[in-house]
Amino acid sequence: MTIDPANKIRLIMHLRNMGIRDTDTLSAMEKVPREIFIPLPLHDKAYEDTALPIGLGQTISQPFIVAFMTEALELDKSCKVLEIGTGSGYQTSILANMCRRVYTIERHKPLLERAEEVFRKLRLGNITAIAADGMKGWPEKSQLPFDRIICTAAAAMKPPAAFFDQLKDGGILVMPVGTIEGGQKLMRYKKEQGDVFSVKELLTVRFVPLLPDVPDPSTYLLKELGELA
Ligand code: SAH
Repeated sequence: MTIDPANKIRLIMHLRNMGIRDTDTLSAMEKVPREIFIPLPLHDKAYEDTALPIGLGQTISQPFIVAFMTEALELDKSCKVLEIGTGSGYQTSILANMCRRVYTIERHKPLLERAEEVFRKLRLGNITAIAADGMKGWPEKSQLPFDRIICTAAAAMKPPAAFFDQLKDGGILVMPVGTIEGGQKLMRYKKEQGDVFSVKELLTVRFVPLLPDVPDPSTYLLKELGELA
């Protein structure tokens, strides 16, 4: 299926109309082809401003939310970023175009492997990806701390302590907090110094939950994995 380039231009104009102002964010969104992160039958929806299923009950985030979270991170080229919830790898790829290196964690290994294939296709050499429980933060102490942390799955009550611990002074954490039933808010935490954080509620959102541990590989149904092809 060929994608009409006008769809992409319309989406970028829509993001501007929705209030996204950061030109680096808008250029990265224009540069990264969203269709290669989603299943073929949904390619015609690649430049609609909606979340889409990517298999294993997970979704690729809505473009506006990707742009909004990216802008809220206030990135610059020198930033070392930790991302929790690689999913399709779309948000990862936007970040990789805007900062020095992205460390990304996904608990579903089949999703991570598919995302890594896309990173190779896009020749994004500044991404380090692992399958693990991201609630514990990045496992290798030598990479700590991070300038920015973004989590694209919602913590029920508050961010895991590891996220605050692994953030540099002056660093920013952006993530959703809350439950589907009780409502979720996108939050921005700035580590002023040590234990002192400033907190800002940004937006009402709807994300899949942040879950502990890594699923047992034998629990993956062949049918579900087939969906990923
Ligand atoms: N940013 C993604 C959207 C991901 S949806 C994109 O652009 O496509 C959220 C992802 O978080 C899911 O893939 C889910 O499996 C993952 N996730 C949930 N809890 C996690 C955890 N503890 N560690 C790592 N990944 C987690």
